[in-house]
Amino acid sequence: MVPEARYTVPADEQLDAAYARALADGARPDVLERMKGGVTAVVGILKGSMPGPTVAFRFDMDAVPVQETDDPKHLPNMNNFRSHYPGVMHSCAHDAHTAIGLTLASKMADRNFAGVLKLIFQPAEEGVGGGARSIAEKGLVDDVSMIYCCHLTAGVEPGIIVGNMNYLATTKMEAVFHGKAAHAAGSPEKGRNALLGAASALLNIHAIPPYSKNETRVNVGILQGGTASNVVPDKARMVIETRAVTTKVNEELVERVKAIVKGSAEMHQLGHEIKIIGSAGSIIGDEKAVEIAFDAAKSLGYHTYIKEYDAPGSEDASFLIQRVQECGGKGTYLAVGSRIPNPHHSANFDIDEVALPRLTDLLWQVAMKILG
Ligand SMILES: [Zn+2]
Repeated sequence: MVPEARYTVPADEQLDAAYARALADGARPDVLERMKGGVTAVVGILKGSMPGPTVAFRFDMDAVPVQETDDPKHLPNMNNFRSHYPGVMHSCAHDAHTAIGLTLASKMADRNFAGVLKLIFQPAEEGVGGGARSIAEKGLVDDVSMIYCCHLTAGVEPGIIVGNMNYLATTKMEAVFHGKAAHAAGSPEKGRNALLGAASALLNIHAIPPYSKNETRVNVGILQGGTASNVVPDKARMVIETRAVTTKVNEELVERVKAIVKGSAEMHQLGHEIKIIGSAGSIIGDEKAVEIAFDAAKSLGYHTYIKEYDAPGSEDASFLIQRVQECGGKGTYLAVGSRIPNPHHSANFDIDEVALPRLTDLLWQVAMKILG
């Protein structure tokens, strides 16, 4: 990983605590040593016995800050595999993705194929934290001819959805307004109200017009500030996100947000700063990559539908797919439906484990179509 390419890195104390915890859990010290500072990506490279192209699969590994339910009917509670750690659980199936990647490695360990298999285990996908970006910038996919980034999808019939995912380009920003505290009754004119600046910005960010030829979104998700009812607030913080079908329009939205934050700060005579804390580009899957996945799914026969996707979200897999495409390779996103009873990121999330061998088989078929 290129450490500087990460957006959101936990505080040093948090990283140190996680390191100590991993050691206590029995992780190999020599491996841990190389991951110090939160550079936890792992790329497994398996060379076939004959020369050929390089195929890569991306598996994200990170958990979600959600407290797992105590419900005794929750399968992980029944079978004693719930999260060991309070406030953190696998409620997005990334543990399943990791298991699938490892199983695929063992299935192909005989090296009876022509080419190279790269298995990318990625941290920091959630909140588009820059995990994929830091792997892409390291150059690890520059030699890849074909890349698939996979995800299990909840609450739908077993099937595959692949191709032009309509994943939206997105940018997450944090803006801080700096004002001046003063007594709200005794000397309000001496204060500079940071919360007012932030509130003006919030309303105007939500007033950015939609685009006629591009689906767009803006949202202020966090607004914090102030200390007491009788104090002019001297600091306010907001967290904003933009999304658009194309990376270019998303960049325009970001410029508009920056202008609004600047203007709102000036209007109330405040200082301000705004920084990007996460981003992902749009994903445009290659026809060839889609075709191979469709053929593989058809040959297995247990996916009830095979189609292109149409549900807006965002995914930092865009960094890996785009990098491969820029270097002359091809790639696509690939989501596999499975009957998951509860939504992603919920406290009682679990997967239908039938999906585990099915997605493994699908990726194995895809790999062998290219490397066979
Ligand atoms: Zn996920």
